[in-house]
Amino acid sequence: MRMETKLAQIGTKKERKTGAINFPVYFATAYEHVGGVSTGFDYTRTANPTRQVLEESIARLEGGDAGFACSSGMAAIQTVMGLFSQGDHLIVSLDLYGGTYRLFEQLLTRYGLQFSYVDLRDLEAVEQAIRPNTKALFIETPTNPLMHVVDLVQVCQIAKQYQLLSIVDNTFMTPYLQQPLKLGADIVIHSATKYLGGHNDVLAGLIVTKGNELSERLLFLHNSIGSTLSPMDSWLLMRGMKTLALRMEKHQENARCLAEYLSQHPLVDEVFYPALDSRGIAILSEQANGFGGMLSFRVKDKRYIQSLLQNLKIITFAESLGGVESLITYPATQTHADVPEEIRLKVGVCDRLLRVSVGIEHVEDLKQDIENAFRSVEK
Ligand SMILES: *Cc1c(COP(=O)(O)O)cnc(C)c1O
Repeated sequence: MRMETKLAQIGTKKERKTGAINFPVYFATAYEHVGGVSTGFDYTRTANPTRQVLEESIARLEGGDAGFACSSGMAAIQTVMGLFSQGDHLIVSLDLYGGTYRLFEQLLTRYGLQFSYVDLRDLEAVEQAIRPNTKALFIETPTNPLMHVVDLVQVCQIAKQYQLLSIVDNTFMTPYLQQPLKLGADIVIHSATKYLGGHNDVLAGLIVTKGNELSERLLFLHNSIGSTLSPMDSWLLMRGMKTLALRMEKHQENARCLAEYLSQHPLVDEVFYPALDSRGIAILSEQANGFGGMLSFRVKDKRYIQSLLQNLKIITFAESLGGVESLITYPATQTHADVPEEIRLKVGVCDRLLRVSVGIEHVEDLKQDIENAFRSVEK
């Protein structure tokens, strides 16, 4: 089956008793041992029928062996971090989702984990950062918010060579565009709140593992920590995922048009979109099926930001991404507010940078909205 078919068919032909087209929500937290024997479901934290359909689906979509649905993307990341012990070191993408940075720096360092932030496009820098206690690479690609594209095949090869785990946060691309496990990664993480859910109405995270040993260890962590997704949210997420293919095509088409429009605009300094970057194109055209729906741009003057944000009528100034509605974010005060200013500036997340999650509206309306907002700046 092709990806579009797998997506549209999530949960169908699974409920044989009634033939329900979409899988029902099982709210029960406890399950009878009929005739003294477990049905395979005992207690909902350990396994829930609705959640299980979602978990099997994401494992199949990513080409992995086991899936785990979590209460948020952060819960998924925290659960995976349970693989590591005091004194372990991880090499992490440099311009990383701000919440992940906050978890690593403000919590996990207290548990004795160590993190080095490295531009993973630079393979030499990756090798140089490896220490005797390094256990894993934590990779975002394209990165957030600067859309740097990492060569997953090469980076995962280095990880294998040094016996490190490769963990990829695949939130921006989704399995529709990029399947990191097939490129050599061991674990994939999603904030399913974003493109997989797709409608800005469900908070969820997903983990997919490859191989029996890792899958067993994650099964233990997921159940022990209790970072599990509720049955209702599992159902909502599956409903969203069914249309992922259609949505991603449109997000991507719109993002490409907007990126081109912005790169011609006299008040815009620089646009960050993988399809405008020759390196990004080269890597993604081999390793992925497209460039995604996220872009960032730097305006020429910091003073434009405020009136631009206030005068947009369609694109909403809000902090998230991946939904059908276009959102614009100011990373310096929103997503990356917990990254110290010095590091933010070093990484390139300056106070002239805006990030757009391009929705599925008509692209001419989006362009017009930005054009009008820019006009208010010039006045
Ligand atoms: C949003 C996001 C997260 C965190 O996910 P939540 O669902 O908000 O907990 C992690 N990684 C990336 C890339 C994200 O965009």
